[in-house]
Amino acid sequence: MIIDRFRADGKVALVTGGTRGIGLGIARALAEAGADVIVSARTDPGGTEELRAEGHKVEYRPCDVTQPGAIDALVAGVARDRGRLDILVNNAGVAMHGPTEDFSDERYRGLMAVNLDSVYFACRAAIRPMRAQGGGVILNIGSISGHISNVPQIQTAYNASKAAVHMLTKSLASDLAKDNIRVNAIAPGYIMTDMTAGGFEIPEWAEVWTDMTPMRRAGTVEEIATAALLLCTDASSYMTGSVVVIDGGYTTR
Ligand code: NAP
Repeated sequence: MIIDRFRADGKVALVTGGTRGIGLGIARALAEAGADVIVSARTDPGGTEELRAEGHKVEYRPCDVTQPGAIDALVAGVARDRGRLDILVNNAGVAMHGPTEDFSDERYRGLMAVNLDSVYFACRAAIRPMRAQGGGVILNIGSISGHISNVPQIQTAYNASKAAVHMLTKSLASDLAKDNIRVNAIAPGYIMTDMTAGGFEIPEWAEVWTDMTPMRRAGTVEEIATAALLLCTDASSYMTGSVVVIDGGYTTR
């Protein structure tokens, strides 16, 4: 049955930043599809407690992906403890705004450490275990900000980090197809999470964001999670190197 291709039974999945927002939605989708899901973040298990209470196989592992060696240790630890790593979702990310001329070295490096460096390091760490087991799937969370320059807020570093994630995705997809490792990305538009809640509370920002989105609303975490399930399962077996835009039409204009 075609619908069975969306199942993830017996698969081991790691979702960074999977305790809330988009990452939690993806963790839920994978768990509901039958995967054994490991979720990481810095502070607390967040929504993973609820998933566990519902009977899903979900484990929380604390990890600040910006700490030297932390993401390598996390990926290697999951592959070692579970004996495999089938699905890696690089979702952890931070957004920072402000005039470029005032954006300090510290903020720039902090942002890049999460949004780009950790994605590169995690992909790198996943290659050997995935290759050794005969394949795997990597999903990176990019952004429409990798395609367009957002307004009214100024977020040059964020936009550059997401554009780099898209290119990293394509380069790895090209390189790793021979190993049966597929690499795709999702580029969300404005999704209602903790990351965007503050922005939606600023009337001038909310007005521009809504006006520029043909569907005239923010997306939901579930509307990203469904596409993530497609990209993480055999349902997308001929997809690699794709950057799937989910933005209520924002980038059509
Ligand atoms: P969110 O609600 O702020 O959640 C971010 C998650 O990442 C949390 O679980 C957070 O947990 C974790 N995280 C942050 N820094 C981390 C670090 N250094 N190490 C480990 N985990 C870390 O964000 P979101 O809106 O769901 O965004 C998820 C991804 O989608 C990001 O890559 C973001 O850039 C991208 N995206 C979001 C939107 C949107 O409109 N929301 C649009 C386009 C792209 P802790 O704080 O506990 O570490």
